[in-house]
Amino acid sequence: MLVGGVVGLRFLVGATRKGLVKGMSRIAYVNGRYVPHRAAQVHIEDRGYQFADGIYEVVAVRHGHLVDEVPHLDRLDRSLGEMRMAAPMARAPLRHALREVIRRNRVADGIVYLQVSRGVAPRGHAFPKDAAPSVVITAKRLAPNYAQMEKGIAVITLPDIRWKRRDIKTVNLTANVLAKQQALDAGAYDAWLVDEAGMVNEGTASNAWIATKAKELVTHTPDYSILNGITRIAVKDLAEKEGYKFVERPFSKAEALAAAEAFITGTTSWVTPVIAIDGKPVGGGKPGPLTRALQRLYEAHADLP
Ligand code: PLP
Repeated sequence: MLVGGVVGLRFLVGATRKGLVKGMSRIAYVNGRYVPHRAAQVHIEDRGYQFADGIYEVVAVRHGHLVDEVPHLDRLDRSLGEMRMAAPMARAPLRHALREVIRRNRVADGIVYLQVSRGVAPRGHAFPKDAAPSVVITAKRLAPNYAQMEKGIAVITLPDIRWKRRDIKTVNLTANVLAKQQALDAGAYDAWLVDEAGMVNEGTASNAWIATKAKELVTHTPDYSILNGITRIAVKDLAEKEGYKFVERPFSKAEALAAAEAFITGTTSWVTPVIAIDGKPVGGGKPGPLTRALQRLYEAHADLP
C-alpha cells in the first residue's frame, strides 16, 4: 500500500509538473467548487464514469474570449434534451463558471472543457430518481497548431463503428479513441469514419469537408450520423457570406480522392487541410486555395470578441 502510494504520488507530482509546463489546468470547477486540479474528483459511482451517461462541450478560448460561446451552449442544451437530462444550472451562472475557470487558470489562448453527467447513484441502468447532475469544468492553454494548419494532415479511412446518435455530444468516445490511435499507429493524424454505404461521416474529433473541382464545398448533412460541429457551422456561414457554393450531402472516399481539396474543421483543429487519404494524395498533396481562404476567414472570426 505504502509503496504504491509513494509511487502514485511521485507519478502525480511528475505529471503535474509536466502539465504545468504545458499549461495544464490548475484549478477545476467541480459541482460548484473551485478546487486544485490534482485534487479534483468525482465519485466512483458517477454515471459518466460507469455508463458514459453524460455530455460535454469544448470551447476555444482566443485572446481571452470564448469563441462561439452561445452556439456551444445551445448545443449543450440540445444534448441535454436528447439525453433527457435536466440543465445543471441556468445559463448565466454557467457562463460565469466558464469564465472563472479560464481566469483562475490564466488561459488567454486555449480551451475550456465542460462535462455534465447524470450524476451519482448506485449502479443501475434506469435513470436515478433524485441524482443531481455532476458538472466539471477545466481549462488549459493550447496554442492553435499553426504548423499543422500550414502543412496539412494525412487521414486514413475506417469503418464507423459508433452508435447511431452521433449528433449528441456524449462522453462515450470509445470508438473515436480506438480510431484515432489506429490512425496514429498507421502514421496518419486522424481517421475519417466511413458508413456502410462507403460515405465519409466525419473525423474522430472533427468534421470532414471536400471542395470539388467545380469549387463546391461539400460536408455531410447534419443528421444523426455526425456531430454538427460549431466550427462547421461557423465555416459554412462564413463561406456562404463570401459567396462560395456550399452543399450538405455525404461524399465517398473516391469522391474525396478526386476532389480539388479536402479539409477538416473543429474547435481544436480550426480549418486544417487534408493532403492524403489512405496514403493517396488529395489535391496534388498540398493545401488548396479554398482551404486557405477559409482558414483566413475562420481565424478572423475566432479573433472577434
Ligand atoms: N465531430 C466529432 C465526432 C467531434 O468530436 C467534434 C469535436 O470534438 C467535431 C465533429 C467538431 O465539432 P466542433 O467544431 O464543435 O468542435
